[in-house]
Amino acid sequence: MTKLYDVIIVGSGPAGYTAALYAARANLSVLMFQGYQPGGQLMLTSDVENYPGFEEGLLGPTLMEKFEAQARRFGAELVSEDVTAVDFSKRPFAITTDSGVYTAKAVIISTGASAKWLGLPSEERLQGRGVSACATCDGFFFKNKDIAVIGGGDTAMEEATFLTRYASHVTVIHRRDGLRASKIMQDRAFNNPKISFIWDTEVAEVLGDEAVTGLRLRNLKTGEESTLPVQGLFLAIGHQPNTDLFKGILEMDKVGYITQVEHTMTSIPGIFAAGDVSDHRYRQAVTAAGDGCRAAIDVERWLESQGETVYVEDWN
Ligand code: NAP
Repeated sequence: MTKLYDVIIVGSGPAGYTAALYAARANLSVLMFQGYQPGGQLMLTSDVENYPGFEEGLLGPTLMEKFEAQARRFGAELVSEDVTAVDFSKRPFAITTDSGVYTAKAVIISTGASAKWLGLPSEERLQGRGVSACATCDGFFFKNKDIAVIGGGDTAMEEATFLTRYASHVTVIHRRDGLRASKIMQDRAFNNPKISFIWDTEVAEVLGDEAVTGLRLRNLKTGEESTLPVQGLFLAIGHQPNTDLFKGILEMDKVGYITQVEHTMTSIPGIFAAGDVSDHRYRQAVTAAGDGCRAAIDVERWLESQGETVYVEDWN
C-alpha cells in the first residue's frame, strides 16, 4: 500500500524548504523531492548578506543547510531525487521519480529558475569568484572595482545601473548594436557617467586563476579580439523557469513561469507554486521563502476546505 501524503513538495530552494517547514509544523505529512542537486540557486552563491536574521552574513550553501535542517526537525521527509513525471489529471495527484510513484492530496511546485549562462568553462570555473548572475546578491563585493555586465535587456540595464553604486566603472557588453531594454531603462544607463558600452561583442573567455582579472572579447562583426581588464562579470542574459515538466499541464506565461491563479494556487486546484518558478520580478531568497510560507498556509486551508482531515500518518 503506498502512503498518501498530505503534500508533496517539488524542489528544494528557499521556497520549498520554507513550505516544508510550515506544512510539517502544521502536522501535515510532507514529502519533498529535493532534486539530485539540492538547495537551488543559493548553492552557487558565496556570501549571503541580505537574508534577514544573519547580521554577519553566511555562505549560500550554509544557509541552505540550515533551511534543510529546520524542515527535517519538524518531520518533513526529504528525498534527493528528481521528479521525472507528474499526473495532475486526477486525485490523489501522482509524482514519479526514479524510485517509484508517490501520491499526495496537494502538491507545491518550487523548482525555481536558473540564470542563463554563456556556457564557457572559464565562466563556470570562476563562479562565485568574480562571476555572478545576481547584482543584488553580489554587487556589494565589488566596491571600487571594474565590472562588466553581459546582455542588452532590462535586467542588464537594471543590474548595470545598480552596480554603479559600488563599482568604479561598469562596461555593458552586448552581442548586437541595439538594446532590447525599455527606453526608460536604456536612458538611465546611457545617462549614467559610470556606464559605457561595447557593441557587437561576445565574451570568448573569462580570464583569471583564482579570481576574475579580465575578459577576452571577440567583435562579432570584425572577428577582432581584445582584452578588457575587469574584476567582476555579471551575466544578465535572462532566467529560465524550471518548468519543462509542467508544460501543457499548468497555466504559464509566455516565458514559462507558472501562473498563480488564486493566491499561490495554480490553474489546477490542489497544485500550488511558490518562489522563482512563478516570480520573475523579485527573485530573492527572502521573497521565495515568504512565498513558500504562503503556499504551505494555502495548502492547509485548501485541504480543510476539501473536508480533508489531516493526520501526520495518513495511509491510503
Ligand atoms: P531578455 O529581455 O530576454 O534579455 C536578454 C538579453 O541577453 C538580450 O539582450 C539578449 O540579446 C542577451 N542574450 C541572451 N542570450 C545571450 C547569449 N547567449 N550571449 C549574449 N547575450 C545574450 O531578459 P531580461 O533582461 O532578463 O528580461 C526578462 C523580462 O523581465 C523582460 O520582459 C523584461 O522586460 C523584464 N524585466 C523588467 C524589469 C523592469 O521593468 N524593472 C527589470 C528586469 C527585467 P539579444 O537582445 O541580442 O537577444
